[in-house]
Amino acid sequence: MPDMPRLAAGNWKMHGLAADLAEARELAATPPPQGVEVLICPPATLIARMAGALAGSGLRVGGQDCHAAAKGAHTGDISAAMLSDAGATHVILGHSERRADHGESSAEVVAKARAAWAAGLVAIVCIGETEAERAAGATLEVVAAQLEHSLPRGATAANAVVAYEPVWAIGSGRTPGAREIAQVHAFLRGQLPDRGIRLLYGGSVKPDNADTIFAIPEVDGALVGGASLKAADFGAIIAALGRN
Ligand code: PEP
Repeated sequence: MPDMPRLAAGNWKMHGLAADLAEARELAATPPPQGVEVLICPPATLIARMAGALAGSGLRVGGQDCHAAAKGAHTGDISAAMLSDAGATHVILGHSERRADHGESSAEVVAKARAAWAAGLVAIVCIGETEAERAAGATLEVVAAQLEHSLPRGATAANAVVAYEPVWAIGSGRTPGAREIAQVHAFLRGQLPDRGIRLLYGGSVKPDNADTIFAIPEVDGALVGGASLKAADFGAIIAALGRN
């Protein structure tokens, strides 16, 4: 398979009303740099309208979660086919906020990833250590176990992306040092069933640290939360990915 493009994925989390689509339209007005793919994962209520707003721009739309079942009596949940039907091409799975808020286990993430594949979606599987686990020197052990138990057999560069997101770096303004990110990414690369699966870094990526992070070997892009909400900030991060 040819090299996959690097990926800048924005996670809007539980932010975004119709008026915020203006940010996405502004972002879409500038084509992404060569070899860079851009994805925005808004709340489910905005997926269809986001797909409309980005139509023709090449920017893609994703969901933030899906149910493991194809359909059924699951009030309030959303299926992978529904995401696809609304215009999504990707879905974030196993984000640490879902693992914490909803007690989501790695086994559930596997089931959700299989459901995503059945609907033709790319699964973005998130893993990462807590601050206590890092302090205990257990980072590699923790991420290896999460990867092994969260990524189903059959994961390839075409159907899966892995996001390494230290839990303590998400939304905190803190990031690991470049050497620490490099160490984890090099380690994870060796654990992947297909070495072409893209490895994103996530956790407080901002315009002012994006160049440093994207210059790290084995970093194939970023999963960006807060800084993806504003076109100027996400655009600056996308530009950094293009030049590193
Ligand atoms: C995220 O939501 O996955 C994330 C990395 O958030 P932030 O960039 O705000 O730390």
